[in-house]
Amino acid sequence: MPPGESILPSPYIQLVSALGGAILAATWLSLILWTVRDIRARSDDRLTQILAVTAVSLLTVPGLLLYLLLRPARTLEEAYQSSLEEEALIASLAGRLTCPGCGRQVEHDWRICPACSTVLRKPCTDCGRMLDLTWNVCPYCATATAAKETEPPTDA
Ligand SMILES: [Zn+2]
Ligand SMILES: [Zn+2]
Repeated sequence: MPPGESILPSPYIQLVSALGGAILAATWLSLILWTVRDIRARSDDRLTQILAVTAVSLLTVPGLLLYLLLRPARTLEEAYQSSLEEEALIASLAGRLTCPGCGRQVEHDWRICPACSTVLRKPCTDCGRMLDLTWNVCPYCATATAAKETEPPTDA
């Protein structure tokens, strides 16, 4: 009689180990699926995605811990948002204008934001130079900006 047969598994133990195996397999699959979703949100790079999923598939929980340590800290969406904020901050530090609608950098003489179509400036009705929307008088030719179209200047 071989020594292994003294602890012969009963059908009950077989059932428990089969259930345990199924649960482990399901957990393993969920880990992989979670990793696939997570890395896709964080990286566009195909190689990075494959490496992350392979590491978790082969090493399971230690692989997942490794992935959590090494994965990109921000999702692509977060990275995009903060790059917009950084762009606006750098632009304001450099004395550049930013669009009030989308935060992108705009030039001083732009009439409209090319990205979000926010109206940035209005042309002077007289000399045609670009004026701030809040200005009532053109600083270049002293023409009243809004009043001119509806009523003639009173001091004429
Ligand atoms: Zn804009
Ligand atoms: Zn003017």
